[in-house]
Amino acid sequence: MKLLCALLVFVASASAVKNYGGYQVLRVVPQDMEQLQRLHDLYNLLEDTVDFWKEPTRLNQPVDIMIGPNLVKDVKLELSRRDLDFSIYVEDVQTNINNERCTDCVNAKAGFNYNIYHTADEISQWVTDMATDYSIVTEINIGKSHEGRDIKAIKISSGGSKRVIYIQGGIHAREWISPATMMYMANQLVSNYNTDAEVKAMVDNYDWYIVPSLNVDGYSYTWTNDRMWRKNRQPNDGSRCVGTDLNRNYPYQWGGTGASPSKCSDTYYGSAPLSGKEVSVVDTWLQQFSGNIALFIDFHNYGQLWLYPWGYTGNAATPQPDKAVQQTIALEATAALQAVAGTSYFVGMSGPDMYPASGASEDYGYGTLGVKYTYVVELRDEGRYGFNIPERMIEESGKETFAALKVFGTNPLA
Ligand SMILES: [Zn+2]
Repeated sequence: MKLLCALLVFVASASAVKNYGGYQVLRVVPQDMEQLQRLHDLYNLLEDTVDFWKEPTRLNQPVDIMIGPNLVKDVKLELSRRDLDFSIYVEDVQTNINNERCTDCVNAKAGFNYNIYHTADEISQWVTDMATDYSIVTEINIGKSHEGRDIKAIKISSGGSKRVIYIQGGIHAREWISPATMMYMANQLVSNYNTDAEVKAMVDNYDWYIVPSLNVDGYSYTWTNDRMWRKNRQPNDGSRCVGTDLNRNYPYQWGGTGASPSKCSDTYYGSAPLSGKEVSVVDTWLQQFSGNIALFIDFHNYGQLWLYPWGYTGNAATPQPDKAVQQTIALEATAALQAVAGTSYFVGMSGPDMYPASGASEDYGYGTLGVKYTYVVELRDEGRYGFNIPERMIEESGKETFAALKVFGTNPLA
């Protein structure tokens, strides 16, 4: 009995959710090239031990560093030693985690509650239920994750065979606003099809495939173990560190700048292109649409950015024949987005205008799949809540992002 109790206590503590009490996020904004270089050096020194929510990129772009209570003092000293001014951007990460849930939103409405975050199982069930409830919806089982969960897509089609709009969310596990926004938008498409002429046009123009939660193992882990987990849950040979950054594991220009060979890094690019089970499964599935995808968007948070390829290079002069048309419609879409609640987005080329990240989804969509209109989007916010966007903001995020999507879905995307 004693042994059983001890075992139970062990199991309970082993599965406890990590507490982020005392974790702070420091923000440093590099003002000149020298400071930027010193930040890069610091990043290289700390990337395996400290969580850079935003890595050093370019001048005046904030660098957000999350630090555990045992390292806060040391990192602050290190920043001072390098003559880098910082502000305490998030005083206590656990407070943000606690505040992300909206207690009076729970069961506020009948049916599926789009105003709260849902577990991996609930999202999976939601796909099944949508297919049962709506004749224009089909449940698609793309394949299994590393841990054996179903990776699902919701297909929305009014019949026939049309060009495809492919949208994915949740490739980074902790970016909860992404799956929530995907589900919100899918519901808008489906439930307003008969009442909103623009929505009808969107669905009559294209076949929509929406993957609400691509990194389904990682997402599940953020509920059960560690809210701030980013990668997938595949073990790495010869390392105690688990997981591949799926958004550095795509085959186009894999293994270059902005991706890490270190298995403990949050941007570990994997053992080979498409070694990450989930991106490999989705890649195989996407091949059937080859040449027929009109729009590809990968939704993340945070930063309020609407970015087009290339991502692998910081050189804006790298040839990219479609950037002008990609930019034009993205500006129109983000203007429509801003009209909803005033949220402003930056539109630009991923690598040169933000930071180079090789093996990422936008280069795969454009370079490998050949989708002319390919984007990576960073949803709300600009860092105040970061990955812990309060549930009360889901609806506005959904509404405004859907306004942007309307611009694409009602456009011929030629
Ligand atoms: Zn992300």
